[in-house]
Amino acid sequence: MSVRFRLFSSALAVAAVTLAGCAQAAPEPTATPAAEPAHWSYDGDTGPVSWGDVDASFETCAVGTDQSPIDLPATVPAPTTSIRLSAENAEGDVFDTGHAVEFEADGEGETLTFGGDEYSLQQMHAHVPSEHTVNGQPAAAELHLVNTDADGKLLVLGVLVAEGDASGALAPFIEETTHVTDEEVVTLDVSAVLPASLENYEYSGSLTTPPCTEDVQWVVLSTPISMSAGQIGTLEGVHNHNARPTQPLGDRVVVGGTGELG
Ligand SMILES: [Zn+2]
Repeated sequence: MSVRFRLFSSALAVAAVTLAGCAQAAPEPTATPAAEPAHWSYDGDTGPVSWGDVDASFETCAVGTDQSPIDLPATVPAPTTSIRLSAENAEGDVFDTGHAVEFEADGEGETLTFGGDEYSLQQMHAHVPSEHTVNGQPAAAELHLVNTDADGKLLVLGVLVAEGDASGALAPFIEETTHVTDEEVVTLDVSAVLPASLENYEYSGSLTTPPCTEDVQWVVLSTPISMSAGQIGTLEGVHNHNARPTQPLGDRVVVGGTGELG
């Protein structure tokens, strides 16, 4: 998942780098950027293996023992838990965080009960290819539906994407990713985005982007949804290869879960 910062922040960061590189400093920008995010990427010196060195606040990316994503087993373990999902329409705008395209739901569109705790959807974003792999194999893409509970605990619902028929439910989101500066409100039917089966893998992990914060509950649906090659290509055209490599499972256990809509 991605910690959101808008294009505005990215632009300031780029401006700051440009200024720092000039011998003759340009005039100071009138607005001083507040906490300027450190630059990280998916390639080269600021890529995933170096995230822990990019900024002191990203240390967990290097030393954390409960990191995400992970490689999931080919067979879903026998279910020990059950999630309950209530999904409906969500309205929000689509924007580019600089690392992924994201739909902002602000608590609309889906509530998810897990372990007696209720979570609500904050945002959805896309990774191409998938971050989680199954038996070593990545899927064409992966959606992350980022939920929080009343205490701010994070639960990310991962939805793997296989290439096939076009997704009508995701068409408004995918279309909007190509002109994110429009600030146009998009309606997303979240229940229609999800696969028919809510069978899932569950484990405790982390954000898959800096600062790689842990204690994130992951629920990855085992049944992929379908998008057309054109739709995947559109997402890939906006952000290519925004997937962190899988991390060691360590002492953690992946358990199986079921789920129901209602
Ligand atoms: Zn993500």
